[in-house]
Amino acid sequence: TSAGPTVFVVYGASGDLAKRLVMPGFAALAAADLLPQRWVLIGSGRRATPDEEYREHVRDGLREFARGKSGVTDEVIDTILPGLRFAGGGFSEDDPGELLDAIAAAKAEVGEDAQVVHYLALPPSTFQSYTKAIAAHGLAEGTRVVYEKPYGTSPESFEELDRLVLSVFDEQQVFRIDHFLGKEATQQLHVIRFANRMIEQLWSNEHVAQVQIDVPEVLGVDDRATFYDETGATLDMLVTHLLQVAAEVALEPPADWTSDALAQAREAVLTKIRPVDPAEVILGQGTGYQEIKDVREGSTTDTFVAARVWVDTERWQGVPFVLRTGKKLAESHQNVTLVFKRPLNSPQKDDEAAPETLTFTLSGNGSVFAGVTARRPGVSDDLVPGRLYLDLAELPNAEPLPPYAALLRDVLIGDRALFTTSAGLRDAWRVVAPMLDERPELHPYEPGTWGPQAAEAIAAPFGWLTEQQSS
Ligand code: NAP
Repeated sequence: TSAGPTVFVVYGASGDLAKRLVMPGFAALAAADLLPQRWVLIGSGRRATPDEEYREHVRDGLREFARGKSGVTDEVIDTILPGLRFAGGGFSEDDPGELLDAIAAAKAEVGEDAQVVHYLALPPSTFQSYTKAIAAHGLAEGTRVVYEKPYGTSPESFEELDRLVLSVFDEQQVFRIDHFLGKEATQQLHVIRFANRMIEQLWSNEHVAQVQIDVPEVLGVDDRATFYDETGATLDMLVTHLLQVAAEVALEPPADWTSDALAQAREAVLTKIRPVDPAEVILGQGTGYQEIKDVREGSTTDTFVAARVWVDTERWQGVPFVLRTGKKLAESHQNVTLVFKRPLNSPQKDDEAAPETLTFTLSGNGSVFAGVTARRPGVSDDLVPGRLYLDLAELPNAEPLPPYAALLRDVLIGDRALFTTSAGLRDAWRVVAPMLDERPELHPYEPGTWGPQAAEAIAAPFGWLTEQQSS
């Protein structure tokens, strides 16, 4: 499928996200020859900016953040620049600035029937006013709109935003970004599961003892403290990425392999995730966090969260899904691991030995590996842990795309499988509501550790698997 003529409007084009993720995604699509034949990209912002100056801004950003990755070269960057325009003067209900004229000019260039995509790479506090402005200037009908996260920061603010958005757009027009769904290994979860009998047969409580979705980060919050201090680990990661990935793991076989059916299967299982019990949540805050510039005095923001959640389907009854993320931890990884029950007649007698596992690593180009037990080669009865390993980027003719490129491509062709839905997000808020209402105690932890000691019990009896253990 390729997209027809497109006018792509990036609101907040001068911002950090546009520079670090959206435009590099666009460049990766250009490198892979996946952009529409005819397109114009209009950057929108408050400051009057000549097209040439905007092109220089984009070129500098692409050289810093995209060049050398996903086939993006200086030549690729040069092919993009002529398609860029800038519409200054801001964009509000009262005043469209230069945007209406810019869209009209772009359509005259690429075709009056061109599809229009609105990409809101804006601070979330402005989502409502821009949505109203799009409606007020008659730009909603027949267009697509992309919202960044966070799409609401509480059950109430989610409902308020969603009501407004759905009064302006049909759900089918709305693309809410959760870039974890665009990661290659996340997209492989259901494919590798359902396309392989030896895996598909094991994907249930008959064989799986626990599911771990573990995204610890070595990095702190340093340059994003203002944003982070108002958000924290639960709202930034758990109610968004971790629950969506949990749903990708837990979903039932979809009715067919269309995008709609996959999205429906994910949504259906989200309705089955039980509201979290605050007693099964550990929140933490790293010592030293309060001293970071722009962190509010006496801040109680969680920089760590570990939670045990339960999926009330027949398939997953009794299997804890344990979710963890945090800042300034001992290691960075993004692992989804199925931990298996012990085989009945195993030569492995040591209950302490590494469990049998199947892990999807979501970072980078992604990989999948099974942690298995083998005999130590030689004259030996010893058993040793080993690994069956699949590097996704090494698959035949692999042309991996960064998540933002994959998601932009889907917006361009109108494929919503990898985007969150209104109903799905409502369910995610329902799941976390109890821990927002009755906030668990905040445990301190030392930077460079695995977070609060109390979080270890969440993943009992196996404990959180580190890279070494799962190798
Ligand atoms: P940002 O740099 O703070 O803002 C983006 C642009 O929005 C600014 O350059 C500014 O452009 C415009 N803007 C700022 N305040 C505005 C206001 N009050 N009214 C109208 N326009 C305003 O934000 P960002 O870091 O790029 O993030 C954008 C979105 O992406 C947010 O929803 C964020 O949560 C999400 N996100 C960001 C990252 C990241 O790494 N940065 C990662 C994931 C998600 P002009 O001054 O030119 O108008």
